[in-house]
Amino acid sequence: MCGIVGYIGFREAYPILIKGLRRLEYRGYDSAGVAIINNENQLSVYKAKGKVADLEEYSKDKDISGTIGIAHTRWATHGEPSNANAHPHYSQSENLALIHNGIIENYAVLKAELLKNGYTFQSSTDTEVLVQWIDYIYNIHKCDLFHAVQIALNQVVGAYAIAVIEKGNPDQIIAARKSSPLVVGVGENEYFLASDASPIIEYTNKVIYLDDEEIAVINRHEDPKIYTISNIKKTPEIKELEMNLSQLERGGYDHFMLKEIFEQPETLKNCMSGRVNIEGTNVTLSGIIDHKEKFINARRILIIACGTSWHAGLIGEYLFEEFCRIPVEVEYASEFRYRNPVICADDIVIAISQSGETADSLAAIELARKAGAFVYGVCNVVGSSIPRNTDSGSYTHCGPEIGVASTKAFTAQVTVLTMMALAIAKEKGTMPEENYLCTIKELQNIPSKIEKILSQNDKIKELSLIFTYAQNFIYLGRGYSYPVALEGALKLKEISYIHAEGYPAAEMKHGPIALIDNEMPIVAIATHNTIYEKVVSNIQEIKARNGRVIAIINEGDESIKELADHYIEIPETKECLDPLLSSIPLQLLAYHIAVNKNRDVDMPRNLAKSVTVE
Ligand code: GLU
Repeated sequence: MCGIVGYIGFREAYPILIKGLRRLEYRGYDSAGVAIINNENQLSVYKAKGKVADLEEYSKDKDISGTIGIAHTRWATHGEPSNANAHPHYSQSENLALIHNGIIENYAVLKAELLKNGYTFQSSTDTEVLVQWIDYIYNIHKCDLFHAVQIALNQVVGAYAIAVIEKGNPDQIIAARKSSPLVVGVGENEYFLASDASPIIEYTNKVIYLDDEEIAVINRHEDPKIYTISNIKKTPEIKELEMNLSQLERGGYDHFMLKEIFEQPETLKNCMSGRVNIEGTNVTLSGIIDHKEKFINARRILIIACGTSWHAGLIGEYLFEEFCRIPVEVEYASEFRYRNPVICADDIVIAISQSGETADSLAAIELARKAGAFVYGVCNVVGSSIPRNTDSGSYTHCGPEIGVASTKAFTAQVTVLTMMALAIAKEKGTMPEENYLCTIKELQNIPSKIEKILSQNDKIKELSLIFTYAQNFIYLGRGYSYPVALEGALKLKEISYIHAEGYPAAEMKHGPIALIDNEMPIVAIATHNTIYEKVVSNIQEIKARNGRVIAIINEGDESIKELADHYIEIPETKECLDPLLSSIPLQLLAYHIAVNKNRDVDMPRNLAKSVTVE
């Protein structure tokens, strides 16, 4: 959600800024802009509604020279997507230009004060209020830009990642963050700023992750200096990035989403590597070992997440309850944080988030920590805010996920949760040895079984053509397959814009069955499990009402082949691991339907990859 890029150094800033914005496109946005200071110290702002390409078109005959600049892709929160509302925003005097990710909650109060003092506004954003407020402080305190930003941020309520530059000062960028991500890239005599590391990796692998309420003063030819908004000087901690550039390219695939679906055998191996031992007899997660007593004595596990991660959390619930016999509740972070929830000191709170920046999950974590619970993060982006704000955790290690609709991050989250459940069960002694060993063994077989499913891509593509017409879809599953049904429906909604609902199959009779007619495709996950027979009965009920069934079945299940209109065969596995296989054909089906409908698969409308506002 929103992208920030900044550059100060010896190269021309504009191409670096534009390339950086392109790298951040995946986060979701509706307009883009840049601010540059040229060699005559003039500050220019260019912005355009639409894509980064529209911004390039707009600025092609403008003065884009200069070795310092900031750039932004906006995901509108206050004011429609438009040229005027796009960032950067100038201050009244056009001396300052600012970009912002987040929401200034008290913007109305500040704006009223500014209006009284003669300020006028060009946009309806909260961001313009912030830059004007900084300008106002700057003038009344007669201080420098850093102090003006510092004073202003003490008066601001809300979330922000900002970067500001000043006309006549081509040697400095001031940046700050609170609850929105911001990374400083440290090169040789050049510095970068970005919402995540992807625009930076091409130039340097050295980064500083800013913490909440920290301000970075980035001066040309000087090491970056960090202060808190209450003026405590911090020693910048330079970290090395693990990412490489090829992970950010499409590598011959039509879309990042397809590439990421096909990467899953590899990403799951990476996720298990160093955690499942070579003999396949043990799972070790350092995040659990280091706090083993906490897990053994946990009274309850609370899983907090949003979207796809919430679906992974539901699978986690089944796993922890089955393996560890610990009661589990799975919560939407956005509901949990505003509900006055009961949290106890012997609760374990597991926060799941691909980006590690999900605003609602971060707020829920804060609440849980205040209540004394032990908080464990399951995230993909190394160095992101959640891992830095939790007591312990495990990375999913599946590499950058660029497609907005999550695929490989979901299966990696489920894999981490499976390994967590196994590790805790071992410590607690709640899982028979034989079951423990054969679950690990089967977990190691999952990547090759996924390969087998991926080899049916052409068949699934063909099948997708039959259903591209559909206006609605229902996805059904029971037990471990129920969260998979929810996730399958979400994938389809996100990228094809077809309305889809997931239900526990038995719930169908309590309402959704009324929707079934010969136009309605129903995707039924009917793999062999303890309630297989019951799912078969549910399919019978659909067929009796002329519904069109696409069944996800185990290889060679002749009886469902006869019953269903269409089927996709997947290899058999242990019931608790089935989501890792059954979710794959659903990802491919959603992908191909969306491609058939000519949708923007990697950047579906209105969606953002990293949801940094609540
Ligand atoms: N609240 C700001 C706006 O609506 C920033 C949005 C963003 O994070 O892109 O302009």
